[in-house]
Amino acid sequence: MGGKSDLCLCWWTCLPVDPIFGLHSGMRFSDCIGQQDVSRRLAAAYREGRVAHAQLFLGPEGSGNLAVALAYAQFLFCPNKSESDSCGACPTCRKMETLQYADLFFSYPVVTVKGRKEPPISEDYASDWRETLLGQGPYLDIDHWLGEISEEGKQGDFTVREALSIIRKMNMKGYESPLKIMIIWMAERMKTETANKLLKLLEEPPENSLFFLVANQSDQMLATVMSRVQVIRVNRISDEAILDQLVERGVNPERAAAVAHYSAGNWWRALGMVGEGDDGTDLFERFSSWMRCCYKGMVPEIFQWSNATAELTREQQKQFLQYSLEQIRQNIVLNYAGPDLTRMNEGEREFSRRFSPFIHDLNAVELMNELGKAHLDISRNVNSRIVLADLSLKVSKLLASSNR
Ligand SMILES: [Zn+2]
Repeated sequence: MGGKSDLCLCWWTCLPVDPIFGLHSGMRFSDCIGQQDVSRRLAAAYREGRVAHAQLFLGPEGSGNLAVALAYAQFLFCPNKSESDSCGACPTCRKMETLQYADLFFSYPVVTVKGRKEPPISEDYASDWRETLLGQGPYLDIDHWLGEISEEGKQGDFTVREALSIIRKMNMKGYESPLKIMIIWMAERMKTETANKLLKLLEEPPENSLFFLVANQSDQMLATVMSRVQVIRVNRISDEAILDQLVERGVNPERAAAVAHYSAGNWWRALGMVGEGDDGTDLFERFSSWMRCCYKGMVPEIFQWSNATAELTREQQKQFLQYSLEQIRQNIVLNYAGPDLTRMNEGEREFSRRFSPFIHDLNAVELMNELGKAHLDISRNVNSRIVLADLSLKVSKLLASSNR
């Protein structure tokens, strides 16, 4: 097992380390990519005795909101912490970093366990969760997680039975410290019946217990839950932070700059792009040729494009639709505020010079809605060929609608 084994608390840490993906190297604030500001604010809240008992770490996909919540938990548990971070070396930190600390609990969306009638709970997937989180880091997205535990296209869920399990765990005495922390990941997936069971607990948690909810989209969170949590905003990671991190991991600077641009602040996506040897430029190529076919109303080409795009993996299709949505948004910015405020590279700017007049008041919102709907359909495993062809025809029509 080599020299590292005497430090290891579990077998995961003995797996070979990929230089790019790596095993998640640590769970301190200093390990969170580009999140110094929020880390500083959280440490200050602790020093000033202002740790709210229910907090929502709200940040876009790939921002590392789960990483920040984990780092905060480690910071609070560490008996050896500095003013600004956990020590990373004490037995508590070691246990935290291998997800073996007994007073740290997790709740996350799960799917029905094969051959079992009982509704599933997080505990049924505890070993998958630890393996995934330790092996791939805390930047993962929900689709990846569900892909690890189920067939493609399944929707994860927090069952009412899960809520009861959370209540039971949080009402027990702490094992290793007086403090207990429950991290609820992808809290926006929680349905009303489940949340209703937890409202009282969130409102008046048992002594020494904290709830860290983690979510990407506040508009999908239940209002009853939102009103009971303090929101901690985790911003998207800056392009510079992603660039630096990639270069540090040995990616050549030119490629790292392209990946930083196209990953749009999403570290999980940046890792995926590097892993697949992709620098993102095909997103732009695909988008610009699609828009050309659409605004010229070239129907045979539109179908050809839809068929070719449907050949990509579902993950890539979703990434492409997100990219397209962002490009539409950037073209609106270009129209209303000028090029200085846009986040475009040279190729995108050049294309948008001629494309942006097609985006205007009358079609912008609808274009974004249609892209959003298609994204959702693809996530739900609807036939991509049909979704993309239908979307293309709608886009074509919307681009043809004049604003004059
Ligand atoms: Zn420590």
